[in-house]
Amino acid sequence: MIYRQVLDAVNHGIVILDIEYRVCEWNRWMEVHSGISRDKIINRDLFDIYPQLNTQSFIRSCKSVFKFGNYMFLSQKLHKYLFPFKPMGSYHSKHEFMQQSCTIAPLREDDGTIASIIITVQDITENVYLEDQMRQMVQHDSLTGIYNRRYLDSRLSEEFNRCSRAGHELSIIIFDIDNFKKLNDEFGHIFGDQVLRRLAAVCSAMIRSCDVFCRFGGEEFCVILPESSAAGASAFAERIRQSIADMVVADNGTEVRVTVSLGVASLNPDVPDTNRLLEHADTAMYQSKAAGKNRVSIFRG
Ligand code: GH3
Ligand code: MG
Ligand code: MG
Repeated sequence: MIYRQVLDAVNHGIVILDIEYRVCEWNRWMEVHSGISRDKIINRDLFDIYPQLNTQSFIRSCKSVFKFGNYMFLSQKLHKYLFPFKPMGSYHSKHEFMQQSCTIAPLREDDGTIASIIITVQDITENVYLEDQMRQMVQHDSLTGIYNRRYLDSRLSEEFNRCSRAGHELSIIIFDIDNFKKLNDEFGHIFGDQVLRRLAAVCSAMIRSCDVFCRFGGEEFCVILPESSAAGASAFAERIRQSIADMVVADNGTEVRVTVSLGVASLNPDVPDTNRLLEHADTAMYQSKAAGKNRVSIFRG
């Protein structure tokens, strides 16, 4: 009797299965989240109730526990969930199913044999949600939603090291909005923010999945283009320039256009680190400014 109350008081799911995968225990937590009462499931084959659990991977894990008496940890990172339960509270929008960390452990008889296993189910949906939120905040720019400078620095180092080692090409584009101060002065900072958001959306739609598009700071942006030559990157920079020049942002009936100046730099044996690569792209970008803005320049050393 005490044993039952303990099982029902625990804020985790507890399921005990015999060697035929029949349910021997189903605690209150499991009743609440599954909507299946203990009476209805006891002595039933678990796979009759949850056919989706009848997978090679789950059966292999259980067999291993029955045979070797080891403890298995089913990480949410790999499996997302074991039992398809609805998430609690307001997490439906983010996760269709409750995210679960589960364990499978042996239950030994007095003679040491393992006749049943115990599965524990922990709801970690909130942790997963908060982790996603935190990652989003740490890596993204709050105004435009694209990656931020912190993410750019870490990804550029990764790509620099990977491409240098493998002898692959790598290019970057830095671009800066022309006369943005004037636009802010004329139409206000809020409208300036709207232009930044639209520009980010237009460019995001253009980049390949392997490219990384970031807000470098203020009204400057950067694109990392792995496996791209200077020629390929400058052709892409030209497409960005044209798309932004074609973009119209409306303000109370006034149609506003902006242009950008772009600089392209590529990996070569004379570029020792990411700072030098960024410096080269910045130099090329200032060459575009000096030559009259709204154009692309390639760093030529
Ligand atoms: P240039 O063509 O030489 O680049 O001239 P510019 O006016 O764009 O350059 P400057 O560096 O003088 O001005 C950049 C402006 O960008 C100044 C700053 O107010 C504006 N800016 C930077 N970040 C933001 C932002 O988040 N929102 C808005 N609305 N404006 C920003
Ligand atoms: Mg500018
Ligand atoms: Mg600037």
